[in-house]
Amino acid sequence: MIKDIIKDESILTQKSEHFIFGEDEYIIQDLLDTANAHKENCAGLASIQIGIPKKVILVRQGNKFVPFINPMILQKSPKTYIATEGCLSLDGQRTVKRHASVKVVWRTPDGTRKVQMFNGYTAEILQHEIDHCNGIII
Ligand SMILES: [Zn+2]
Repeated sequence: MIKDIIKDESILTQKSEHFIFGEDEYIIQDLLDTANAHKENCAGLASIQIGIPKKVILVRQGNKFVPFINPMILQKSPKTYIATEGCLSLDGQRTVKRHASVKVVWRTPDGTRKVQMFNGYTAEILQHEIDHCNGIII
């Protein structure tokens, strides 16, 4: 179901809780429906942005949105840069310091544990969305 995008910063600054397999799967479809409804300006979406404080995010890869469940950054490159980012929950664009690459651990919707190094735009989206899980907005 397409959900309204939360813009209330008192909700957005809440920390999300762990996604529970066997209970929270419904969130993934709502996230996908909502992200696809905003496809022209959506690079990623976090569960808190549809009002559910659970650790599940979507990251755009090519033309589709990929779910990352309970994502956590294990390592950040020392190299950083200043990115200009927008957010569906916020007006306009803001600048933020990002790491050039990040190593992330997460689970896929079928529960598989994955660890991978990301760089470039995907690393930037991951940092933005994982920040959302921790109540941090740009
Ligand atoms: Zn955002």
